[in-house]
Amino acid sequence: MIKAKKKFGQNFLKDESVLSKIIKSTPKDDKVIVEIGPGLGDLTKKLLEISDKVVAFEVDLELYGILQEKFKTQIAEKRLELICADILKIWNSSSIIDSDYHLVANLPYYIATKIILKALDDSHCKTVLVMTQKEVANKFIAKHQEKEFSALAILAHSISKPAVLFDVDSSSFEPPPKVTSSVLKMVKFDDYLKVDNNRGIFDSYNEYEKFKLFLRVAFKSPRKILLKNLSTIYEKDKIKKHFEDLQIDQNLRPHQLSTLHYHLLFKKIIGA
Ligand code: SAM
Repeated sequence: MIKAKKKFGQNFLKDESVLSKIIKSTPKDDKVIVEIGPGLGDLTKKLLEISDKVVAFEVDLELYGILQEKFKTQIAEKRLELICADILKIWNSSSIIDSDYHLVANLPYYIATKIILKALDDSHCKTVLVMTQKEVANKFIAKHQEKEFSALAILAHSISKPAVLFDVDSSSFEPPPKVTSSVLKMVKFDDYLKVDNNRGIFDSYNEYEKFKLFLRVAFKSPRKILLKNLSTIYEKDKIKKHFEDLQIDQNLRPHQLSTLHYHLLFKKIIGA
């Protein structure tokens, strides 16, 4: 057994029943499965049993060597593509692979939020099914008025249906992490970007990017009132008028406004 490297967030999932539950929740269609951080390959092995093609990204050269040996048949058959890379260095503004895919992974926790946000932005990614620390998963499923409600939950609810499927005790891992984990699933809506149909929440990818900027401003100082945060870059009188038109209380803090009202306010601001 190799020694787990803390710097790469290595906690290997050893609980067969948890692995089986993840596989049960994995979409079974002809899309590629992308796995980030295959580690010792326990989840990878099960993913290969239900999918024709898995693409896995592993940063640790030592693990990469072990995986190459372990899966040499599947690699030769081109059912497994194994890439040794730091996922955050290679996942820039474009998609991580050229075809549609589902992301299924037990994520390295130190970069879990960044990876999930990348997957939400990546239009080729259709489902995010990931294990992460419970606190992070809860941020994506939070509802307005809850203290965890933030831009992460608004984005997640805008383009998908986020849900925590189940929690996983630290004893299921080797070595055990210091936190409880949760399996988070987000199935993206087909039509969140209007492409050539007339549906969807956003008119274009550009509008989606503007919405993300709007959320960053809205939650700039989460304890301040929303109107104050928004007034730092948008014209205060105009924002006040939009609040009045939409019957939004001007004293609300950012976490108190619903996802729907964030969208209505955003559309007013951009004049849509
Ligand atoms: N999937 C395995 C399992 O369930 O047992 C391992 C999960 S472990 C929590 C996280 C994995 O992500 C490790 O294999 C680690 O080396 C890998 N990893 C860490 N940082 C990474 C990065 N920046 N890019 C790609 N893989 C990374």
